Amino acid sequence: MKTQPSPTRSCKAQYRAWLAGGACALVAAVALAAGDGHRQLGVHEHGTGHLDLVLDGSSLEIALEGPMANFVGFEHAPRNSAEEMAVQQVLSRLRDAPRLFRIPVAASCQLTDVSIDAPPDAGHADEDHDHDEAHADIAASYVFRCGNPAALSHVDVLLFADFPGTKQLVGRVIAPGRQGGATLTPGKNRLDVVAR
Ligand SMILES: [Zn+2]
Repeated sequence: MKTQPSPTRSCKAQYRAWLAGGACALVAAVALAAGDGHRQLGVHEHGTGHLDLVLDGSSLEIALEGPMANFVGFEHAPRNSAEEMAVQQVLSRLRDAPRLFRIPVAASCQLTDVSIDAPPDAGHADEDHDHDEAHADIAASYVFRCGNPAALSHVDVLLFADFPGTKQLVGRVIAPGRQGGATLTPGKNRLDVVAR
């Protein structure tokens, strides 16, 4: 008879607690994403993520999504304190929008909301199976209110420095008069919002 929770179960419980602290608004989305371990949009390819930028009036939303491995380096629930710290650090950095995106000052954009969507059971790791082959994704959404959206010519994506597991981001832009995109890399990290 088991009287003590296994270390794995304990880690998972803590992991859930952290995520609950920051992802309350996205419980439904997490449940949806966790349903089959994959998000509906995008293909789960390690090293590749997706970044969607939507400018609608004064509202700018940047949505970032990619395999958890791109951000954390693994996709299972943390198995020890080092992995727990790694996940905490990633979640913290993902909330730091000014560190991830450089927006032209003239556009006067103020961050109004950040939400992080990470799987409650990253990779579905548990006692029953060895799930090393399981996959999980992380998504983050940033909403800005821009005082002068006409000046939003581009956004520089700086997150490659913090997340070297992200080799490229498939960028898409929807803005007045423009629908386009570009593949972003550490050496080519500018996403044009207005056509040039
Ligand atoms: Zn994966």
